[in-house]
Amino acid sequence: MDCMSLRGDILAHWATVPARALLLEGAGGLRVPLNEDEDMLDLMAVLGLPVFLVGGNYLGCLNHILLSIDALRHSGLELAGLALVPSVDPDAGCPGVDIAAMLADNARILRHRLGRTGSDAPVVELPRLKNLDEGGWDKLARLLTPVALRMAQTWSEPALAGGQASSEEQNLVRRDRAAVWHPYASALDFPPLNAVRRTWANRIVLADGRELVDGMSSWWAAVHGYNNPHLLDALRVQAGRMPHVMFGGLTHEPAVALAERLLGLMPEGLERVFFSDSGSVAVDVALKMALQYQYARGETGRTCFLTPRGGYHGDTIGAMSVCDPVTGMHGLFAGMLPRQLFMEQPSCGFDQPFDPASLDNARQMLEQHGKKIAAVILEPVVQGAGGMWFYHPEYLRGLAQLCRDADTLLIFDEIATGFGRTGKMFAAEWAGISPDILCCGKALTGGVLTLAATVCNKRVAEGICRDGGVFMHGPTFMANALACAVAGASLDLLSSGRWRQQVGDIERDLRTGLAPCRDMPGVAHVRVLGAIGVVEMKEPVNTRTLQAFFVDQGVWLRPFNRLIYLMPPYVTPAGDTLRLCAAVEEALRQGAHLS
Ligand code: PMP
Repeated sequence: MDCMSLRGDILAHWATVPARALLLEGAGGLRVPLNEDEDMLDLMAVLGLPVFLVGGNYLGCLNHILLSIDALRHSGLELAGLALVPSVDPDAGCPGVDIAAMLADNARILRHRLGRTGSDAPVVELPRLKNLDEGGWDKLARLLTPVALRMAQTWSEPALAGGQASSEEQNLVRRDRAAVWHPYASALDFPPLNAVRRTWANRIVLADGRELVDGMSSWWAAVHGYNNPHLLDALRVQAGRMPHVMFGGLTHEPAVALAERLLGLMPEGLERVFFSDSGSVAVDVALKMALQYQYARGETGRTCFLTPRGGYHGDTIGAMSVCDPVTGMHGLFAGMLPRQLFMEQPSCGFDQPFDPASLDNARQMLEQHGKKIAAVILEPVVQGAGGMWFYHPEYLRGLAQLCRDADTLLIFDEIATGFGRTGKMFAAEWAGISPDILCCGKALTGGVLTLAATVCNKRVAEGICRDGGVFMHGPTFMANALACAVAGASLDLLSSGRWRQQVGDIERDLRTGLAPCRDMPGVAHVRVLGAIGVVEMKEPVNTRTLQAFFVDQGVWLRPFNRLIYLMPPYVTPAGDTLRLCAAVEEALRQGAHLS
């Protein structure tokens, strides 16, 4: 038995019987195995239903019950109530022991402990029934009625199975609107908002119970899906040991091990890892590294960066300065953004024969401005948020040579492309080259915590630190131990190599599933690379209406500008990838992107 198929069977069965409530009786305790790898607790976690825990009341039961309560809490499961059934006869004589008092004391301690964790789950002491006759049933029913009523109120059918959001959930959106600001959004004209109750695998469960197939991996990050047990386990173990400690003058195993493993995975020549908290900061760190490197070797005139149009590198001031000057909204911050040099977007598509002329503008810019340029920065092979453009890897080989000729550095921003998304562990592998500096983030922790790394070669590290130089950056949460431990667990999963098959399967399904969109009106281009699928429209789409349409279709996709794009978690089953594609096709057919 495995959790996913059991879950499917249970929900399918529930849908066919005229029952208002679903009550599943577990087979024994939480850690009762279902197969080699999964147990009852895993099944409970994928079902996400409240749990009514039943335990024996006896001398020594507290250990067992408290550990079970911990396990439920750590799996994010709600305790609906606790029933205690005496395993000893309270009236049995035992010299020196007041058994009835001991049993009552157990219940008291459990109520106290639950209260301390903020739980108001009722603790019901059931009698020991000799005969379960009619009178016995009545007695049990009476004792359990308050628990049943509470469960009915708190976890009503619509709240679990879809339909109306409860008032509490609507209230969450109201509270959000009064206090919170969302990404790229107005604080006055509120964007549509979906409250999320929980996640699992490739699914996002909304507060009203609807379950969405995720097509975004939470902006490239959740490659192993959500709530992956291996990642959560690493997080819990590290939380118990040491959540965080400052990185100035101190070090720890999760950070060192992660740095070693990253260097092992990255292109040859990268030798030194600098951890920071987010992708944008990792890009700022890379820019500062390049500037300090040039300064240290006396090239003090090299203070600007060359980057292709159509790029995206983040939202901090430095990162923003190298984003596309139009879509990166340079106009808004024109007065204070550092002014950088922009070259033409790599024009030769990934699937086209390579056109050497696509490097002409880069060559020209480097020849003309070479002495001012600290580094060239770009996203290898896939330009992400700037336009989801896939270009020819040969461009990168040519550009690397041009950088060597101009004696400047090359920075690869692999924050979106890293960790398998394009079909290679890092997109640099498509070109078989190694940059001087490489930034990664997003999927580094499998989407669990925020962590990024800027990795450089010997030339950069030694250049900055020669003659006693130090690199001038040091975030408070540098190399956060929790994030490093989870990142290590994510690399464990990637090192099994299964991602290659998964990404390959998703690529195949995206190609099949998006093919019908090619000839639909308004579509400019459909392209797929690795686990990324893009439907580029001729005109900007209406993100609000399209997002709402997708939610109605049971999928989570968030298009922007002219791009409807899919980058599902690697664990997405074939049927779900095709469902995402079908939702896109249906949207175009119905014109949902226009209204
Ligand atoms: N670089 C690239 C290529 C990105 O896609 C992003 C995020 N979309 C960033 C940098 C910035 O990362 P973060 O949002 O973690 O700051």
